[in-house]
Amino acid sequence: MPGFEVFGEEEKKEIAEVLDTGVLFRYEFPEERRGIYKVRRFEEEFARYCGVKYAQAVTSGTAALKVALVAMGVGPGDEVITQGFTFVATWEAIFDVGAVPVFAEVDETLNMDPADLEKKISPATRAIIPVHMLGGPARIEEIKAVAERYGIPVLEDTAQAPGAGIKGRKCGSFGLCGTFSFDPVKTMTTGEGGMIVTDDEDLWRKMSEYQDHGHDHVANPGGRGGEGRSFIGFNYRMMELQGAIGLAQLAKLDGIVESQRRNKEALRQVVSRLPGVRFRTIVDPAGDNASFLAFFLPDAATAQKVNGVLGNNGAGAVYFADNTWHYYPKWEHLLAGSTLATSGWPFKEADGRRRVQYDPRALPQSAAIMDRLLVYPVPIKLSDERLEQISQAVKAAC
Ligand SMILES: *Cc1c(COP(=O)(O)O)cnc(C)c1O
Repeated sequence: MPGFEVFGEEEKKEIAEVLDTGVLFRYEFPEERRGIYKVRRFEEEFARYCGVKYAQAVTSGTAALKVALVAMGVGPGDEVITQGFTFVATWEAIFDVGAVPVFAEVDETLNMDPADLEKKISPATRAIIPVHMLGGPARIEEIKAVAERYGIPVLEDTAQAPGAGIKGRKCGSFGLCGTFSFDPVKTMTTGEGGMIVTDDEDLWRKMSEYQDHGHDHVANPGGRGGEGRSFIGFNYRMMELQGAIGLAQLAKLDGIVESQRRNKEALRQVVSRLPGVRFRTIVDPAGDNASFLAFFLPDAATAQKVNGVLGNNGAGAVYFADNTWHYYPKWEHLLAGSTLATSGWPFKEADGRRRVQYDPRALPQSAAIMDRLLVYPVPIKLSDERLEQISQAVKAAC
């Protein structure tokens, strides 16, 4: 599952090239850097890998979501639809630009249910963020069809699915733009980091300027800072060291996915011995990045009981119904409207009226799915001993 498993000489070599120049900043220092532009090259190669024209590197996957939303013009008064099973970062970014997150159901793909998406669209909907959870593609073509009917742009949160795709087309390249994360537990990692990919030149320019204080990045004889600025920005710039690591990890991505597919198949064969087990729907099995093996048991009680036995035998799975990071009814701070702002923003209006209120029971279809769900992360390196341990645990659970 995480790219740190294969961190090695290639990453060190890329980093050493940056350290040799002493230039850690992605812009400027044309003489000192001696032609070495790691972040820029990482962007170019990542765009090529995804089959799109442009990529913008930023400091994290969360920043990628925010920068994309800002460039799409999303702000206060707007609603953004995402799903109730995602990492908290997705709704953090929506709130951070001043918009309100609206949650849609997931189906047995563990991703956005296109039918429920349509029910959640309102006149205030300005963007739709399907999340390709756990390495498996969302029903992105159906989601896009719904979005296009209403003229709403799609941003794909692809943080958990680099290398995944449908019919050979990469996840992240279907919508207006797609975002990625390279945090320490992702399929490829730069320690911290994120990327946004798009075919839209205007959107890319806005992102490029916004993530660097609004600098327009045109050639300027007076040096950086002498350019014009068309709008206010912020700082989400990626460092050269991260770009260097990213280049080495990207070169390994297809190999990572290949190993994960092999290991996932081995785990699937073991898990399929559990009575009544069913596996998550993968929209295109050939496009699964295989970071996780997700399976359903007949009901919540069985899922918990089985996982208890697996845990006691050293091979517990993740029970996402209890996971506080990825499932909206577990986000107590969201439900309570907890914020550091003394005004209560973003949960309260300036006059103290409640702006949004979330009901943990609002997604019954998702709850019925999550209650029965167990998930194994799939390692890149799976030893025979570990596979045997999981096999014995499954046997005990049977
Ligand atoms: C990890 C993750 C993010 C955020 O990425 P960071 O780089 O940790 O900020 C966003 N969305 C999803 C679905 C994620 O899994």
